[in-house]
Amino acid sequence: MIRLTEIKLPLDHDENAIGQAIINKLNISPEQLHSYNVFKRGYDARKKSAILLIYTLDVEVDNEAQLLSSFEKDQHVKVSPDTNYKFVAHANSSIKERPVVIGFGPCGLFAGLVLAQMGFNPIILERGKEVRERTKDTFGFWRKKALNTESNVQFGEGGAGTFSDGKLYSQVKDPKHYGRKVITEFVEAGAPEEILYVSKPHIGTFKLVTMIEKMRARIIELGGKIRFSTRVDDIHLD
Ligand SMILES: Cc1cc2nc3c(=O)[nH]c(=O)nc-3n(C[C@H](O)[C@H](O)[C@H](O)COP(=O)(O)OP(=O)(O)OC[C@H]3O[C@@H](n4cnc5c(N)ncnc54)[C@H](O)[C@@H]3O)c2cc1C
Repeated sequence: MIRLTEIKLPLDHDENAIGQAIINKLNISPEQLHSYNVFKRGYDARKKSAILLIYTLDVEVDNEAQLLSSFEKDQHVKVSPDTNYKFVAHANSSIKERPVVIGFGPCGLFAGLVLAQMGFNPIILERGKEVRERTKDTFGFWRKKALNTESNVQFGEGGAGTFSDGKLYSQVKDPKHYGRKVITEFVEAGAPEEILYVSKPHIGTFKLVTMIEKMRARIIELGGKIRFSTRVDDIHLD
């Protein structure tokens, strides 16, 4: 797969413009272009009267090696990096011990999910309640000032930020593409597909609750277990 960067098109470009831009950039015939995928879409709004969309595209074409060598000096035509998530291990089916994850916020959710995907049947301990119950408690506090100290805007399934609009961008450098794994899982759980490529992705208010439920169901389906209303106060090591 070849990655093309800095493909600029007008804001109101039509459906075929991306394919045509690839053909023009690589100087190939339409038959040579098999498929493409938008990896990222940003904006150049410096000229208000001519706003541009800037694409990073992964394209499948005939004669990939030959094209790459003829564009060797062009920094905007390179081999697409492998952004697939690599699991660090897979559990042996005879394994008896189960890893324990404390907290079911974003960190615990992904630790639990990845452990479950690797076959480790994690047990997740969360002091708060499951997200729908937690939503009632949180709105109870906002509307009636009734605070549940274990189930509120901070504590419970989904962690802090569950009742936000889910902004997903950060300034963290991500050379191993871990963010891609997170975003792919979110899309699988029902987030809008455009979060895969827009430059400042956000999920949208109130979508997180349903997504968290789906991700919980996936962990359970893969052999994980989540214990709500279970606060960890101490750890005893034998
Ligand atoms: C209102 C709000 C809006 C936000 N909006 C965004 C946003 O749009 N985009 C963004 O990227 N970030 C946002 N954030 C920040 C984001 O939510 C946090 O960075 C993130 O939640 C941290 O994840 P975490 O898993 O490390 O911790 P937490 O989310 O705090 O999760 C920890 C979990 O552990 C549980 N827990 C704590 N102690 C124990 C214990 N002793 N035993 C068992 N369980 C325990 C808690 O109940 C909680 O569920 C927002 C935060 C808030 C408060």
